Amino acid sequence: KDAKFFNPLDVVEKSVTKIHELEVSPEYCGYATYQEHGGYQLLQAVVAGQVALETVLKNMEDSGLRGLGGAGFPAGRKWRIVRDQPAPRLMAVNIDEGEPGTFKDRTYLERDPHRFLEGMLIAAHVVGINACYIYLRDEYHGCREILEIELAKLKASPPCELPLIELRRGAGAYICGEESAMIESIEGKRGEPRMRPPYIAQIGLFGRPTLEHNFETLYWVRDINEQGPSWFSGFGRNGRQGLRSFSVSGRVKLPGVKLAPAGITVQELIDEYAGGMQEGHTFYAYLPGGASGGILPASLNQIPLDFDTLQPYGCFIGSAAVMILSEADQAKGAALNVMRFFEHESCGQCTPCRVGTSKAATLMASTTWDHATLDDLSNVMIDASICGLGQAAPNSIRCVQKYFPQEIV
Ligand code: SF4
Repeated sequence: KDAKFFNPLDVVEKSVTKIHELEVSPEYCGYATYQEHGGYQLLQAVVAGQVALETVLKNMEDSGLRGLGGAGFPAGRKWRIVRDQPAPRLMAVNIDEGEPGTFKDRTYLERDPHRFLEGMLIAAHVVGINACYIYLRDEYHGCREILEIELAKLKASPPCELPLIELRRGAGAYICGEESAMIESIEGKRGEPRMRPPYIAQIGLFGRPTLEHNFETLYWVRDINEQGPSWFSGFGRNGRQGLRSFSVSGRVKLPGVKLAPAGITVQELIDEYAGGMQEGHTFYAYLPGGASGGILPASLNQIPLDFDTLQPYGCFIGSAAVMILSEADQAKGAALNVMRFFEHESCGQCTPCRVGTSKAATLMASTTWDHATLDDLSNVMIDASICGLGQAAPNSIRCVQKYFPQEIV
């Protein structure tokens, strides 16, 4: 149903209350309401040539917007790379959102689907895309219903000539959130990552140059272009720039999606955005980037959370899923959970990951850890796995060894 307009800026100003209220009573902004509030005017201006394609591209670059699915590749640069490839070009939109602890795309999609669709269509027009394939996590039944309804309205009364838009359902595999596995899945094949090169910007979906984007990256296109690139890059703390949608979960009083400045620390996130720790719980550890991004102790609570800032600690932010553990939890137990998850979700294509995750999970379940064998396994998985799943799986092992030696003997 159509409901009140959801302005992301309100979330910045009143992050806790606004998002929290909306989570209690989910409502979304439908096609008519979105248009009443200026929606699709930017797309129409771009298509009509009133806003030059180069201006849009420059805005994207100047805003510093990076891929918010986890890889962090600069969005504007990606548009240029794909635009320079031969036509026909395709787009694949990743709404698989399978990283444990991540629920930001769902939160925005359930409230403001057309802001994303307009961003997708602007990207399609600027890059010269013939067809857009939206790949949606199958568990998101409500989102699918919203997208089906709203896409039907959009196609029945389009604001301009539309490219082909297809909505495709995933089937529950974590690995299909990896861009090349997603493309295989859209093509109707088993979801297994491809070897690179060639990169999908050159040879992607159905063998064509493909612009791949996470949902949230496209969600910000309208605001960046309407409010100017410095609006987006003007947010930030600790020397970082932009906005990040943190999916905060665990032992905090107010879990949820927190739209916060890039570079905020976990302590600031807990105190200012998540209502502090739950009663009776003391901050002990955190996973800064879902299952893949490692585990850090509470003593390292002043690291700016952003792309590139966590690598020196053997971690990464990924899709910004921040899980907070208390002294009632164990990092070792969390690491074992994570490894069992990877064992289950490994696509099985390459031996270092298929066998490595399984052996590591067995070794990590033991009271004492066989460090020599775990080190060997970690090295092989990092060096020889085809994709990020196998390469990142040892992060949790190494973090426990480095930061929580008291838990393992
Ligand atoms: Fe599949 Fe794991 Fe190899 Fe990735 S690293 S291709 S998930 S087996």
